Amino acid sequence: MAESVELPGRLAILPFRNKVLLPGAFIRIRCTSPSSVKLVEQELWQREDKGLIGILPVRDAAETTSMDSMLSQGAGSESGERSSKVQVSTSDAHKVDGKSPSEVIHWHTRGVAARALHLSRGVEKPSGRVTYIVVLEGLCRFNIEELSTRGPYCTAKISPLEMTKAEMEQVEQDPEFVTLSRQFKATAMELISILEQKQKTGGRIKVLLETLPFHKLADIFVASFEMSFEEQLSMLDSIDPKVRLSKATELVDRHLQSIRVAEKITKKVEGQLSKSQKEYLLRQQMRAIKEELGDNDDDEDDLASLERKMQNAGMPSSVWKHAQRELRRLKKMQPQQPGYNSSRVYLELLADLPWQKASEEPELDLKAAKDQLDCDHYGLMKVKQRIIEYLAVRKLKPDARGPVLCFVGPPGVGKTSLASSIASALGRKFIRISLGGVKDEADIRGHRRTYIGSMPGRLIDGLKRAGVCNPVMLLDEIDKTGSDVRGDPASALLEVLDPEQNKSFNDHYLNVPFDLSKVIFVATANRMQPIPPPLLDRMEVIELPGYTAEEKLRIAMQYLVPRVLDQHGLSSASLQIPEDIVKLIIQSYTREAGVRNLERKLASLARAAAVRVTEQEHAVSVSKDVQKLTSPLLENRLAEEPEMEMEVIPMGVNNHEISNAFRIASPLVVDEAMLEKILGPPRFDDREAADRVATPGVSVGLVWTNFGGDVQFVEATSVIGNGELHLTGQLGDVIKESAKIALTWVRTRAADLKLAVAMETNLLQGRDIHIHFPAGAVPKDGPSAGVTLVTALVSMFSEKSVRADTAMTGEMTLRGLVLPVGGVKDKVLAAHRYGIKRVILPERNLKDLVEVPAAVLSTLEILVAKRMEDVLEHAFDGGCPWRQQAKL
Ligand code: ADP
Repeated sequence: MAESVELPGRLAILPFRNKVLLPGAFIRIRCTSPSSVKLVEQELWQREDKGLIGILPVRDAAETTSMDSMLSQGAGSESGERSSKVQVSTSDAHKVDGKSPSEVIHWHTRGVAARALHLSRGVEKPSGRVTYIVVLEGLCRFNIEELSTRGPYCTAKISPLEMTKAEMEQVEQDPEFVTLSRQFKATAMELISILEQKQKTGGRIKVLLETLPFHKLADIFVASFEMSFEEQLSMLDSIDPKVRLSKATELVDRHLQSIRVAEKITKKVEGQLSKSQKEYLLRQQMRAIKEELGDNDDDEDDLASLERKMQNAGMPSSVWKHAQRELRRLKKMQPQQPGYNSSRVYLELLADLPWQKASEEPELDLKAAKDQLDCDHYGLMKVKQRIIEYLAVRKLKPDARGPVLCFVGPPGVGKTSLASSIASALGRKFIRISLGGVKDEADIRGHRRTYIGSMPGRLIDGLKRAGVCNPVMLLDEIDKTGSDVRGDPASALLEVLDPEQNKSFNDHYLNVPFDLSKVIFVATANRMQPIPPPLLDRMEVIELPGYTAEEKLRIAMQYLVPRVLDQHGLSSASLQIPEDIVKLIIQSYTREAGVRNLERKLASLARAAAVRVTEQEHAVSVSKDVQKLTSPLLENRLAEEPEMEMEVIPMGVNNHEISNAFRIASPLVVDEAMLEKILGPPRFDDREAADRVATPGVSVGLVWTNFGGDVQFVEATSVIGNGELHLTGQLGDVIKESAKIALTWVRTRAADLKLAVAMETNLLQGRDIHIHFPAGAVPKDGPSAGVTLVTALVSMFSEKSVRADTAMTGEMTLRGLVLPVGGVKDKVLAAHRYGIKRVILPERNLKDLVEVPAAVLSTLEILVAKRMEDVLEHAFDGGCPWRQQAKL
């Protein structure tokens, strides 16, 4: 850097528009305008000594007006000198940097002498215009005395403005200057250290700071910042070194502050950026994983579509407000955040629920409904009639709050299919909700959302599945709900079935009321007793007792066989199941009140036939080469078939023979041999009772189970012991008590019954009595085995067998009175199924026989008992031992 510069009296002037070159600064410019090119050419390029030129800031006319006042007060007043401008019209000679000649240009009166450090010349193609690139170094300030615009470029008479060395030394002694210098140095050092950290380029500037005088440093520092034109001008106008220093300190400090603020902002932004970048990265990864899993739905799109779905769900306004609140919360959450998923699943449920969506109900045609019921079900006249009445009331008064129908009966008697027929008659959707084994109230009402894994109750879930708010909803096995510490599901059901309350059913998970009043509820149960009375009170019970063998045959022939064939892709052309065979299945393979097992057995036949049909098709295509028709598929099928009980297939019948059995001409007609091969040997026969009661001490009782009526054998035996009574067969308290009563009664009547010689004889002397109820794995309870127990004991003590064709039921008092029992109709039907010919019933149960089909009654002899002696009279061949004695 030049220490002191000898300025000539006149300088060629290069105008800088809106820019200032300060002493000590470097600038690289490109000269293209004719005047500047001329100036460079003549003053710098062609001259040997590479002289100096003057750089003079000029201001556009447009900017002048607004800046005038600022300039005159700002820069001028501080420096103590008035800043001045020369207004020149360039129209006469040249224009500044391509400005049109008519424009007014304001020349500043102070400039900076500069020398060229580097020059390069170029020729533009194709115009051939010459341009120069010049690197200039600002040297010192000058004042314009006189500006001449005549000639190819401006020239000016100038006078130097910088202090002489002696003057400068004097100023440097000034304590104010010293303070200002120190201040400037401190600020500059601070700036340097910041720059050092950032760019590691502070070293060179530090050296400058130590070596250069401060008044020069001020210019150099300021020149390196970005400043406004006005600030640059005011710096240029600061002739006094003290003014210059204080201005520079101010500018450096300002620059420092702005760097600090910028740094702060950058840090903040960087922090946010890195967080969002991290999220972005994770999201990208998640998307890739989802794509890999074929689950590439976008979260945001999802939320938008969820909102749309919610808008279209038709929620009541209060629910809609609640849902919106929840959605707003969800939108603020990150998908990874705990609670996001549960909140989303909840909103999905709200959006999916049929708040208003109902299936269009066609005008109810009672005749068509009746036809539909007839078409789906055989018999059941009374039940169908009641359903038609129910539908008729609905037709006349669609919003009638009629009672809830409840079908009660053993499994497989058509309860579910009747309910589904009601739905199709009404043209409504049908939805089945299984309540079997529900012990928790939350199963009905849902879990509150605060629980982990909470979910809605079965009703709300069912409605979501149905997708309409007016389905026919079957509450299946309503008698199987129980209550424990987790609440009472029945009480929740009470609310559901109460037309007054179910308008605003409150599911704990949903937490907003849902209107269930449009749902038609139908319930089913196997037994009436376990249903809590308040619940039973809200329902109208329709009993389906079970079918007789004849009814089963009709159902099988008309409904089950065609349906089963159809389900297996067969027709009567490929498989025929004759009536005799169906009868045989009913008698020997199924002993149930309903027809479910019958349907299963028929399905087994159909499956075996289906194998044969496919085998035949297969054989046709390969039989050209393969002469022998084998049926490996069928063999496999038979081996796998779970209901076929392969282990009991008689020895000697191998698979080859089985496959041969199918090689009969189409259609395949099922015969007895084939039946046995497919279903195994008959499971039941009418001789079972005879075999069982062949030895004394066994009697035949009739009991009532979840599966309808059944035959229950009671076995009694005595062993050497101390007169104790042992009871086995998973017995409940009531039945155990019945056994004690029975034994006591037998003991008191021992002499009368000819079981003991005299009244005082102890029947239990030296022996224990053991009573067993076979099917030991099945729990049993109830008082109706009273008479059966006595009969078994009497048979055992008297060593006389009871009649194998006689079954009995009845509760007995300690005094020997026979009391009525429940389920008579089912018990009689069960006796009929077992091939029993005589049934002993308590006298007061006679009235129940009206419910038993006449066809069944006609095959049975009903014997009435008032007292235990009557039972014994009927149970033994030749009558009661006691009466025998009386007869004698
Ligand atoms: P539940 O609900 O009483 O246990 P389902 O309604 O499931 O019994 O009936 C079992 C099967 O028996 C169904 O395929 C049903 O169609 C058939 N079924 C029952 N009763 C009859 C009937 N009276 N007429 C025709 N099919 C019947």
